[in-house]
Amino acid sequence: MRAVGVPASDVRRRIAEEMKDDVSWDRVLNSICTEPHPLGVEMAAAAAHTNLGDVRIFRGTKRIERKVVELLLSFLGNADGSGNLVSGGTEANLIAMLVARESARARGRLTARPEVVVSSTVHFSFDKIFAVLGLSAVVVPVDEAMRLPADEVARRINDNTVAVVATAGSSEFGVVDPVDEIGARIRAHEVHLHVDAATGGFIIPFARDLGHDLPQFDFSVDGVDSITIDPHKYGLVNVPAGAILFREGEGAERFSFDSFFIGTPVHNTFLGTRPGSAAVATYAVLENLGRSGFTQITRANYETTGYLTTRLKEKGFELLMEPQLNIVAVKVAHAALISQRLESWGWIVSTSRRFVETIRLVVTRHVTRDVVDEFVPVLDLARHEIEAEVADGDRTK
Ligand SMILES: *Cc1c(COP(=O)(O)O)cnc(C)c1O
Repeated sequence: MRAVGVPASDVRRRIAEEMKDDVSWDRVLNSICTEPHPLGVEMAAAAAHTNLGDVRIFRGTKRIERKVVELLLSFLGNADGSGNLVSGGTEANLIAMLVARESARARGRLTARPEVVVSSTVHFSFDKIFAVLGLSAVVVPVDEAMRLPADEVARRINDNTVAVVATAGSSEFGVVDPVDEIGARIRAHEVHLHVDAATGGFIIPFARDLGHDLPQFDFSVDGVDSITIDPHKYGLVNVPAGAILFREGEGAERFSFDSFFIGTPVHNTFLGTRPGSAAVATYAVLENLGRSGFTQITRANYETTGYLTTRLKEKGFELLMEPQLNIVAVKVAHAALISQRLESWGWIVSTSRRFVETIRLVVTRHVTRDVVDEFVPVLDLARHEIEAEVADGDRTK
């Protein structure tokens, strides 16, 4: 630390200087987060001093959090449920898994080696969570459409099983598991069904309204016990904004820890000190956009996704699958090299090696037709350069 501080103007200048190096949104095709809604940013700044770890001080802010939870619960078909705002999908999934484990314990069903049935494309946050909670993953391979097969899930359930995780919008491919079939298939078993809708939660309901053929994934599906939804992804809210929601009114209270202070409300989230700005920003964005605003944005995202796939196919690119949501997986050889080349030109994409090598492109609010028009020729050029260089390398070997 400096012996004597520097003037604010200096600090501002240095931070701005460093942040200039952050990639601008119109070059970002790998991120499920997007340029946040300006009203969310404005309200978050207004609430920068708030802390939901102390709800005796921030009573009004806490009321806003409750409003957001109610809003999300009724949005997902369960006005009588419970939940909390959290830092994101990772914390939401962690709380869901702890509640699942403790529910099994409460029913006298917790064995020495508790297991959770997941798909082979489940989000990597579960690796962290299982390590922390001492749970073992039972991994079910996805089917040819990259969905978790309901029959296989049912087959893997045994006395050790405390939960099943289905994904409504995988982060890798934007695939929605058949949550309705899984719910129906495992209903007879006493296991917790958690739906990770961190990516798809703010897409699927609007896409269904627009006529897209996607499975139902929310509390209207019998058997769904908890849902993760991330306002800081397709909800357009500034980071960090996540939510964990439960079917039961007491669900959220199963994750409940007292502090050492007398008369202080218990904590129902993993974080202690946590930003009220997240609740305020989420409230602002959800209220301001409403269903019509989100539906419009979803329509635009699907239009751009369709435009991107058309332009890619025109250039001879092959897709791994037709996108269900707004994530496009392009089959290419040497995906990592192409991605590095693109990055050296200022473009950020991600790559996957699952099944075959793919470049993954996420369409969200900042990815417009203009961005697609600029990007596709650049991707094509990168592919041709890398193919030529690899062929050259092979010849000189
Ligand atoms: C992003 C994501 C997560 C993790 O959420 P964070 O907000 O990054 O903690 C979990 N599951 C899915 C499906 C996701 O897309």
